[in-house]
Amino acid sequence: MTSKLIPISTQTAIPQSTSVVIIGGGIVGVSAALSLAEKNIPVVLLEKGQIAAEQSSRNLGWIRKTSRHANDVPLAQAADRIWAKMAERVGADVGYRQSGIMFLAKTDEQMSIHESWLSSVSDLNLGSQLLSPKEIDKHVPGGRGMWKGGVYTPSDGRAEPAIATSVLAKAAMNAGAILIQNCAVRDLSRSAGKVSGVITEQGEIECDQVLLAGGAWSRRFLGNMGVSLPTLPVVASVLRTKPMEGPTEIAVGGPDFSFRKHKDGGFIIMQRGKVDAPITLDHLKIGLQFKDQLRFGKDALNISLGTPFFKDLIMPRRWSANKPTPFEAERVKNPAINHHLLQDALQNTHQAWPQFEQAEIEESWAGLIDVTPDSTPVIDRVKAIPGLTVATGFSGHGFGTGPAAGQLAADIVLNDTLLVNPDPYRFDRF
Ligand SMILES: Cc1cc2nc3c(=O)[nH]c(=O)nc-3n(C[C@H](O)[C@H](O)[C@H](O)COP(=O)(O)OP(=O)(O)OC[C@H]3O[C@@H](n4cnc5c(N)ncnc54)[C@H](O)[C@@H]3O)c2cc1C
Repeated sequence: MTSKLIPISTQTAIPQSTSVVIIGGGIVGVSAALSLAEKNIPVVLLEKGQIAAEQSSRNLGWIRKTSRHANDVPLAQAADRIWAKMAERVGADVGYRQSGIMFLAKTDEQMSIHESWLSSVSDLNLGSQLLSPKEIDKHVPGGRGMWKGGVYTPSDGRAEPAIATSVLAKAAMNAGAILIQNCAVRDLSRSAGKVSGVITEQGEIECDQVLLAGGAWSRRFLGNMGVSLPTLPVVASVLRTKPMEGPTEIAVGGPDFSFRKHKDGGFIIMQRGKVDAPITLDHLKIGLQFKDQLRFGKDALNISLGTPFFKDLIMPRRWSANKPTPFEAERVKNPAINHHLLQDALQNTHQAWPQFEQAEIEESWAGLIDVTPDSTPVIDRVKAIPGLTVATGFSGHGFGTGPAAGQLAADIVLNDTLLVNPDPYRFDRF
């Protein structure tokens, strides 16, 4: 994981009871804890490893509406409003900058994807615009001019993943939330047909409601209770360069690279056209539900059968709560970095903008992404288990929407006025 992740100290012993327990200390769970604590709701967040150590600190930090499915845009717009006031809310800079995001096209086919996205959101007032090659050069000078065109949203932005969730977690604790790290939740306890608590590795906490925000682990947690959440894992590798002169503050996504400025002056770079898709037993069980993604994204997936398959195979899918579970066996998921993909990404970046020829890699890491069949998260109550809500399956774009998703999940838990229409996130759409 990135060496820049800010570690935080939390309470170590569990309380006996609370109103709401949140499972998972990524940006979604932490944002929900902050929202609940600000409303004076007693809340305990349990993280099996370290706050933000999985996806929430490993991502690119893009906060985007561009290329987002139209029905997911209102959540992203709500998130923009929350990010804009975040520093004031939490009393610290989380690196939020409204510095714009641009996607580029090399071919007519790629350009037509940007055009159809723009027409799908034409009534949402995003301020997004198509760009000519000349306009691209004006915004991001010094390039080799290899583009047909692009799409650009000036109101998109970025924040620093290695800082944001930790800062939000501290703010949640200041507002009264109890956060506990190195404490896995093994199972839920139920009475009279509804949730009555959680069983952790330290014992039981009684509660009225549980929010599961377990990222890539949510499927396994629910599976133990007979609930099937269709998510499959993909692995993306990322590098950070040493501080360098770069062409722009705008985050740029080409067909086979993406980059954005890091607050320390380097750049965060990733391959955009390809991610690793290590096969697991779940691919065999639920892969058919992902057939559209496989059809359209087949060139983008580096499919392999190797160690992750066997590791996953021997990891229990059912367990009893009186013994250690998979969550304690792997406190922080640390997938293997694909250095070849990173070298390609760096090369593709400097082919497009020669300024990157001077880029030196400072560090690299990889993160496991939980993808749903329609690349849209589930933020909903679990009908089969009254008292349980989930906010998970963010499919590689939940950092930007995380603060809003957490607030929406908290609204659902409380039966409060909802931040946005939750219909796109219903569990029963699968
Ligand atoms: C390389 C990469 C690049 C990305 N780029 C972007 C981007 O630019 N913009 C964007 O918006 N998104 C991006 N994403 C996606 C984004 O990071 C995720 O969508 C988001 O962080 C998901 O947050 P989360 O809270 O759902 O999950 P996570 O951050 O994974 O948190 C879930 C937590 O739950 C804990 N947990 C699970 N089970 C249990 C249990 N039983 N008991 C206790 N704790 C448990 C885990 O340990 C984990 O810490 C990217 C992701 C990756 C990996």
